[in-house]
Amino acid sequence: MLNYTSIFARHIDQVKQEQRYREFVIIKRTVGQFPYAHYLPQNKNAVLWCLNDYLGMSQHPAVLTAANHALLEYGVGSGGTRNIGGNNICLTELERELASLHQKEAALVFTSGYVANDTTLCSLAKIMPDCVFFSDEQNHASIIAGIRNSRAEKHIYKHLNAEHLEELLKKTESSKPKIIVFESAYSMNGMFSPIKKICELAKKYNALTFIDEVHTVGLYGKEGAGIAALHNCAAEIDIIQGTLGKAYGTIGGYITAKRPLIEAIRLTAPGFIFTTSLPPVIAAASIASIRHLKTSNTEREAHQKVIAKVKQSFTEAKINYLQNDSHIIPIIIGDPIKVKEASRLLMEEYAIYVQHINFPTVAKMTERLRITPTPYHTDKMIEDLTIALKNIFKSLEITYHDQAA
Ligand code: PLP
Repeated sequence: MLNYTSIFARHIDQVKQEQRYREFVIIKRTVGQFPYAHYLPQNKNAVLWCLNDYLGMSQHPAVLTAANHALLEYGVGSGGTRNIGGNNICLTELERELASLHQKEAALVFTSGYVANDTTLCSLAKIMPDCVFFSDEQNHASIIAGIRNSRAEKHIYKHLNAEHLEELLKKTESSKPKIIVFESAYSMNGMFSPIKKICELAKKYNALTFIDEVHTVGLYGKEGAGIAALHNCAAEIDIIQGTLGKAYGTIGGYITAKRPLIEAIRLTAPGFIFTTSLPPVIAAASIASIRHLKTSNTEREAHQKVIAKVKQSFTEAKINYLQNDSHIIPIIIGDPIKVKEASRLLMEEYAIYVQHINFPTVAKMTERLRITPTPYHTDKMIEDLTIALKNIFKSLEITYHDQAA
């Protein structure tokens, strides 16, 4: 007889052996304490340095007020799918807001950025069965899942490498629909895609462009519309995908594009059709967050200042970090055990929380700490982090590791 429990236990053992076992720390984030959180295992407050709530918008007064109002007005749940449970007015307003943010004709909201990528990419191939995907080799798991699930032909181009992308485009039959899929900024190395060059190639080879702006919406460009907006090429991008779960501080994902494309996805995507929609309270909070970041540069400017200070402090302390122009500061350790130990020591000895990043999130031997400053990290917090890293790297004999990953 099959022993199912032992199958799962063996799987867990295997993951442990490969140093891939993940322990989640339990924290409690409280309004007004950002960027501190209560770290439950040791019953102490810690400074968080690895949040994707990049601007602290999850606690912004305008967002809390909107959420509070919507909660009392509309309740908690949305009541079902958009199709059957009703198309909540808060969601249609959110979609109008997103379309206007990206200067597109229409938008479609999903329950997460992951779902937006997975179900949209898969649906594009349902709508255009002979389409061919061109995907950056470091694209996110949700993009990989969408392309894989579509079973469409795919070509993977070298990371950020427009020349390689062109080679692959050149080799593909010109009559086939083509979709270039890339991220504006890569979350594990903070590098930006060569967006202008990709747009030129898309035009030359008559390909559609799909950009994942998950890590850049709210943070860059006029009104926080992202990197495509920053480089004045949003109009040349066919599909802009984003999340509400990072800089906007809520949850949910979306795409914006021309109306026929959005309509076609709305009518096709299982990840849109067959799932309960986002609650009105989340839609209302998201609208407040987007509107705030559209009209105010305060958080964005403060964010950039803190990023510059952290990078300067690391440089002065000779802490090697991966050089990029973004808000993500990776320090590659290149050792799964040392990086985990560094993370543990940061918390236990310095009350600083930086989750270590291991395989499969990043390639083996490129394990890293990924630091994400926010506008609310003070000079003292930066100094404390720098000293802690310096001391820990010394004690673990982490000297220099190639920061090109
Ligand atoms: N795309 C990228 C590049 C991501 O890094 C992530 C999540 O980290 C997602 C999509 C998924 O977004 P969400 O967290 O809203 O599901």
